[in-house]
Amino acid sequence: ASHEMCPEGRTVTVGGEVIGGKKLCMMAGPCAVESEEQVLEAAQGVRAAGAGFLRGGAYKPRTSPYAFQGMEDEGYRLLRRAADATGLKVISEVVSHDQIDLAGKYCDMLQVGARNMQNFRLLREIGKSGIPVLLKRGIASTVEEWLDAAEYIMSEGNYNVVLCERGIRTFETATRNTLDVSAVPVVRERSSLPVLIDPSHAAGKARYVEPLALAGIAAGADGLIIEVHPNPKVAMSDAAQQLTIPDYGRLVQRAGAVAQAL
Ligand code: PEP
Ligand code: MN
Repeated sequence: ASHEMCPEGRTVTVGGEVIGGKKLCMMAGPCAVESEEQVLEAAQGVRAAGAGFLRGGAYKPRTSPYAFQGMEDEGYRLLRRAADATGLKVISEVVSHDQIDLAGKYCDMLQVGARNMQNFRLLREIGKSGIPVLLKRGIASTVEEWLDAAEYIMSEGNYNVVLCERGIRTFETATRNTLDVSAVPVVRERSSLPVLIDPSHAAGKARYVEPLALAGIAAGADGLIIEVHPNPKVAMSDAAQQLTIPDYGRLVQRAGAVAQAL
């Protein structure tokens, strides 16, 4: 992941979408895939707002075993269908190494969630698969540990790794996590990998998502992954932090303006 290995800086290209280039990479969609209608409506909305990737959890790593766990394999299929209907790429999480083959059939990019950042078997198998991957920072991981997790994937020959800062756990409880904006210049200095910001899981509340997103872009992030739901009030997971489609549209405009000003 170091600059010595790639002095010009890495870009990751996923079906024509370039991550780490001049243009901001925008990924958006619901926390979880809940139904065919919900994911299609989200896809149409985020596509119209300018997103290139549709996100959505099929397998959800929930804190409580009694919470909605996701639609599993059917979720991947619904994401693919909605993305193909709207011209988006699909990104979705894999929580176990034995899901990689099936997820790879339906997704253009895999996500390693914060809770699995140090699931070394998962990292190695994604490395062997060669599938592009978004590697989220662990809830209590240092930048060094995060970059070592990227090395697990890259050492198996998969250089299509994009980092994602999604907030870390601190003593502060006003937000769900504390967005470590400083991680952006730090990983830029220490690695050649593109880095995205997930302001949704950092904020935990929809009204804080836009300011954190803009701060991330101002700090030099290559793009954003944001939770957007056609009707956040009825969302089956992370209802408080998901944006409506109109609010997402406004955020995309403002993020573009910040990037332009840099
Ligand atoms: C997600 O993006 O769906 C998610 C669960 O995020 P994180 O792993 O960052 O908590
Ligand atoms: Mn979520």
